[in-house]
Amino acid sequence: MPGLLDDTICAVATPVGEGGIGIVRVSGSSAVSIGAQVVVLRSGKGLQVLESHRLAHADLVDIRARGSLPPVFVSGGGHRWVDEALGVVMRAPRSYTGEDVLELHCHGGTIVLQELCQGLVQAGARMAEPGEFTKRAFLNGRLDLTQAEAVLDTIQAKTASSLYVAQAQLRGRLSEEVQGLRERLIGLLAQVEAGIDFTEEDIEFIERDALRSGLQTVQARVGQMIERGREGRLLREGLTMAIVGRPNVGKSSLLNALLQTDRAIVTAIPGTTRDVLEDGLNIGGLPVRVLDTAGVRDTDDPIEQEGVRRAKMAMEQADLLLIVLDGAAPLEGTDRELLELFPDKKRVLVINKCDLPQVLEATGLQRESDGKRAPLVTISATTGSGFDELKLAIRSCALQQQLEPREGVLVTRVRHLDALRRTQEAVGNALVSVEARAVGELIAMDVRAATDALGEITGAVTTDDILDRIFQEFCIGK
Ligand code: GDP
Repeated sequence: MPGLLDDTICAVATPVGEGGIGIVRVSGSSAVSIGAQVVVLRSGKGLQVLESHRLAHADLVDIRARGSLPPVFVSGGGHRWVDEALGVVMRAPRSYTGEDVLELHCHGGTIVLQELCQGLVQAGARMAEPGEFTKRAFLNGRLDLTQAEAVLDTIQAKTASSLYVAQAQLRGRLSEEVQGLRERLIGLLAQVEAGIDFTEEDIEFIERDALRSGLQTVQARVGQMIERGREGRLLREGLTMAIVGRPNVGKSSLLNALLQTDRAIVTAIPGTTRDVLEDGLNIGGLPVRVLDTAGVRDTDDPIEQEGVRRAKMAMEQADLLLIVLDGAAPLEGTDRELLELFPDKKRVLVINKCDLPQVLEATGLQRESDGKRAPLVTISATTGSGFDELKLAIRSCALQQQLEPREGVLVTRVRHLDALRRTQEAVGNALVSVEARAVGELIAMDVRAATDALGEITGAVTTDDILDRIFQEFCIGK
C-alpha cells in the first residue's frame, strides 16, 4: 500500500447505491485540515476547533467550483453546495484507526458521495485501498489480527450464531486465549534458554517434568481448539448441502419449503428473495448453501444416468447430503444407486410425501439409517409436516456439539487452524526432544517455532504477505 500511515485516506463507508444516509470516512494526520476545506460548520466555527466525538451540523461544498457560478448554487464562501451533513471528528488515538478521523454523514446518493470524495482528494486526501482503515487500526495497535478479521466476519455473518462468534472474537476472546498459550510457551522458553546459557554451571533451571507438563497443557488446549475448528468454520463459511433424489420425489418442493421458513422476514425487503438462495439458508443458526442440482428432473433418460451424474457432482462437493425418497412410491434402482454413493459423507435420509398413502418399504432404510447413523426423517413438502425434525436432523448431523461454545472460543478461520496445527506439531517435536533428553537448544528451537506460529494468529508475529492476504478480503471503506 502506497505511503501507508504517512498520508490521509478517504472512502465511502456505506454500501454502493441509494440510501437514506451515506457516510464518508477520512483518516490520517491531516484529516481535519483536509476536511476543513470541504466542510463548513453551521455554527460558523472552524472544523479544527470542533470538540472530539461531537456531531455538528455542516454544509459540504465543492472547493473546485469557485468562480462564475450563478449565486443560487453557491455558498457564502463562493463554493458550490454538494450536500448538507452531520460531521464528527474523532481525534487520535480515540478513533477506529487510532489516527484523526473525520466522518461525514450526508445523503446516501451515488453522486453526492462521489463529489464529496473528489473534493477531499482535491484537498489532499488519497482514496483508501480495500481494508485500509482496518489495516491502519491494526498497525496502530487498536485491533490485533483476529479482531480485524472479526470486523469482516461481523459484516459478513450469515446467521445470528455466526454473528455471536464473530463478536466474541472482535472483543478479543480468541486473542486472550492464544495470547495466554503463547505467554506460557514464552515462559517455558525463557527457562529452557536459561538452562542452555548456564549448562557449564550445571543448573537445570526448569525440571524436565515441569517442562513436559507445561508443553502437554499447551498441546491439549491447542488440540481442543483445532478439534472444534471444523464447527467454527461451518458457522463462518456455512455448510454445503446437496439435495438429491430421482425426479419427482419432491426436491424442489422441499427446497422451496425450507426457503419459505427463512423468507418470512426477508421478503419484506424487495429484491432479496434471490439473495436468500445465493447467500444460503439459515437452518437453526447454521448457514447452509444448497448446491444446485437443477436439470436432474428434466431428463427423459429412463435410467436417469444424466440425473445421477449431476447428482454425483453435487454430492462430491457437499459437506452434507439430503437424500430424498418418495414415500408414495416403491424404492427404485436410482434411489438405491444414490443411497450407495459417498457412504462416508454426512447424510440425512428424507422420505417425502407422507401426506399420501405410503408405499415405500422403510424398514430397510431404517436399518441403513441406524447402521450408518444417518437420521431418517419423514416429511411432506406440501403440508410442511416434519420440517422441524428435518432442520434439527440437518443441524445435529452437521455439528456434533452445540453452536454456542459453552466454554473457550471457537476458531473459525483456516488461517488460524493452520497456525494452530503448526503450533501443535512444534510442541509435539519439543516433547519428543524432552523425552529423548535432548540438549536445550533443540527443545528451545521447537518451542520458539510454536511461539511464532501462535503469534501469527494475533499478528504479534507477522509479514507483509500475511497482512496483504488478510486485508485484500475487505472492501474499500472498511
Ligand atoms: P423434484 O423433481 O424432485 O424437484 O420434485 P418436485 O418438487 O418438482 O415435485 C414433483 C411433484 O410432486 C410435484 O407435482 C409436487 O407438487 C409433488 N410433491 C412434492 N412434494 C410433495 C408432498 O410432500 N406431497 C404431495 N402430495 N406431493 C408432493
